[in-house]
Amino acid sequence: MSSDSTPGEASSAVSTADAAETESALDTARRQLARAGEHVEIDPNVVERLAHPNAVHEVSIPLERDDGIVEVFTGYRAQHDSVRGPYKGGLRFHPGVTHDECVGLSMWMTWKSAVLDLPFGGAKGGIVVDPKELSADENERLTRRFAQEIRDVIGPNRDIPAPDMGTDAQTMAWIMDVYSMQQGETTPGVVTGKPPVVGGSYGREEAPGRSVAIVAREVCKYYDRSLAETTVAVQGFGSVGANAARQLDDWGASVVAVSDVNGAVHDPAGLDVHAIPTHEEEPEAVTAGVDDVLPNEKLLKLDVDVLIPAAVGNVLTEANAGDVRADLVVEGANGPTTSAADTVLDDRGVPVIPDILANAGGVTVSYFEWLQDINRRAWTLEEVNEELEAEMLAAFEDVRTQVDERGVTWRDAAYIVALSRLAAAQEARGLWP
Ligand code: GLU
Repeated sequence: MSSDSTPGEASSAVSTADAAETESALDTARRQLARAGEHVEIDPNVVERLAHPNAVHEVSIPLERDDGIVEVFTGYRAQHDSVRGPYKGGLRFHPGVTHDECVGLSMWMTWKSAVLDLPFGGAKGGIVVDPKELSADENERLTRRFAQEIRDVIGPNRDIPAPDMGTDAQTMAWIMDVYSMQQGETTPGVVTGKPPVVGGSYGREEAPGRSVAIVAREVCKYYDRSLAETTVAVQGFGSVGANAARQLDDWGASVVAVSDVNGAVHDPAGLDVHAIPTHEEEPEAVTAGVDDVLPNEKLLKLDVDVLIPAAVGNVLTEANAGDVRADLVVEGANGPTTSAADTVLDDRGVPVIPDILANAGGVTVSYFEWLQDINRRAWTLEEVNEELEAEMLAAFEDVRTQVDERGVTWRDAAYIVALSRLAAAQEARGLWP
């Protein structure tokens, strides 16, 4: 099954994360929360509540393999916070999925929704499985049974899954089908990132990469850098990396390096990124037939203006952050920078534009999809992209204001925006009972 329509894609992944520095997504998310909590006048009780997920559902999913043998897989749905609206976030099918990873990623979804001021909370889930080892039929059976196991805790007003690593529009269509059949009514709003024929939104697939490009463009403008004179290296050529690279190329930037799991291609004169197939179009096509493939680790250290890690988490670590030569980092993947690397980059004066702002186009167009489902009326691609541009510019402006007013990092600024909104909502609703 093809995969990846959202940040953090495994299939275009790299294996460069420093084994010596394996910070879990939960560790990183908690450290970031504690750090941001120090910068802003937020009641410590609010921070304490947000350091814990509301619930984590763990299920066993029996699958009859094609050879008749039954195997049991483990699935999770972490629901972090819903004070501002229904839980929202992706489902990943990946061998590295753990309880803690789901919790950490669900926390990032809460901040992401709040930074974009969307009426959603945060969730994340998945199955511990390598989807590449399943046949198409097995994948469908596994997805359907998982949907059945989590059916009671999801719903269009409760918790709305979306694609993430190893899942795609088809996965969402199967979940929508299971849910709808059991409810006795077609319920498109239970998932987002569906195919448009069953209520999916145009532009949803491209949205995370598009928002990365919008944010990169805006931050270049902020630092008085013309896109026409900007060189970009993109790690990962799945949906996020490829769409970001192509959009930046269209806007005049020079994308000089891109990569897949086998390594990177580099041309200081600029690559024709429209001619390179994305991971979904043809897996590992970036390096296919190329003689001088650069190790992925080297891509991170290229002398470029903008570095976009858009593959997996934890690729910028304490060990390599000192060697990053880019002037700006824009996070395409979820959690590509460890806390230690963040400190190194901050000390060196390299701004890091965080995932919870940069790749939030995915959940933003998910919100548009949910609205279209409620209204039973589809928007055109032009309408989606126009609205996405407006939402991203507004969020960028909110974060930029904090950067300028408080002199904090872009990540802290995004957390301050998110935490302020969450704290206000918590205060308005109170603690029940
Ligand atoms: N999985 C995506 C993310 O990490 C999108 C989640 C959604 O659209 O709900 O942002």
